[in-house]
Amino acid sequence: MSSVRPVVVPANPLRLEVMALHAYHVAPASGMIKLDAMENPYVLPQDLRDEIARLVADAEINRYPDAGAQLLKAEIRRVSNLPHGMDILLGNGSDEIIQLLALAVARPGAVLLSVEPSFVMYKMISTFVGMRYVGVPLDDDFSLNRKAMLDAIRQEQPALVFLAYPNNPTGNLFDAATIKQIIEAAPGLVVVDEAYYAFARDSFIPHLAHYDNLLVMRTFSKLGMAGLRLGFLAGAKAWLNQLEKLRLPYNVGVLSQLVAVKLLQHHDVLLEQAERIKQQRARLLAALNTVVGVRTYSSEANFILFRVAKATQVFEGLKQRGVLIKNLNSGHPALTDCLRVTVGTPDENRSFVVALQDTINQLA
Ligand code: PMP
Repeated sequence: MSSVRPVVVPANPLRLEVMALHAYHVAPASGMIKLDAMENPYVLPQDLRDEIARLVADAEINRYPDAGAQLLKAEIRRVSNLPHGMDILLGNGSDEIIQLLALAVARPGAVLLSVEPSFVMYKMISTFVGMRYVGVPLDDDFSLNRKAMLDAIRQEQPALVFLAYPNNPTGNLFDAATIKQIIEAAPGLVVVDEAYYAFARDSFIPHLAHYDNLLVMRTFSKLGMAGLRLGFLAGAKAWLNQLEKLRLPYNVGVLSQLVAVKLLQHHDVLLEQAERIKQQRARLLAALNTVVGVRTYSSEANFILFRVAKATQVFEGLKQRGVLIKNLNSGHPALTDCLRVTVGTPDENRSFVVALQDTINQLA
């Protein structure tokens, strides 16, 4: 005997704001000169690669990782010169830490405040966790608008403020005195996101001890470990003990821990690569400044923002010539006709500048 079961159409349980989101876009880059994602372009010395290969061969990947990642934390502490009494929390990339911070403060109506244009994940993650996002416009030269920031903090009483220092995608360091005023005015936590610290001349880590509501976040992605996914948050134990409760167990895998410890023991190698990137940044900036029609912005990071007429066509022209950079045109209005190029090896940078000149000539 057969019975006909009624068709049940499930109600869509997804939140409207999630359905309205666009996923973080990662462009396919196979076979291209890849200057889109602020990666370190240099490979490691052969002897260090051999050491890593031996470590990985012996790794206990059948076991869960050290949940507290004690060895790794000790190395991070050593290379980061944390002030006395400060602790660290590890994330699977610093993206994960942004999410964890937002989760910790996301009561109904809570505000996450940042500046615009800045790193897009601050706004996206606000949506993920149901926080209200407030983006305070930067001035035309991409510096902080002190009055607008202090007014917004007074009005919005944000639970969480994110300031990228240097800022992505503009590349500049904000005025440190203004950031200090923001920290003093903020009723909640202020996170200084130092993703690009390795290329910048200043840091807020030495100020951690002076402000109860300051946290500093860093990633090793730009220093040569983008593939490992490792970031950390530094700050007072009282905050980090609470945030630890939200960290998913084992969020940093066995291989990431092993390899990162080894690389941090050879921190000098990474710093030397960062130094080369800074030298190349100066050369690339000078080369870009010779290209007619290009307006550059100076950078304290491992990328350069520039403006050019017909930016999307220039971006496509570069792609046809085998060079992938980041198109920021049609994103934020302040970035109309802006493109962002990551500093690569000398050869990559040369190829990029030749391709750019060629594209601009063709479009003229
Ligand atoms: N903060 C800023 C300002 C960034 O630009 C990025 C990467 N684009 C991140 C955080 C996240 O880096 P990751 O997740 O690789 O640590």
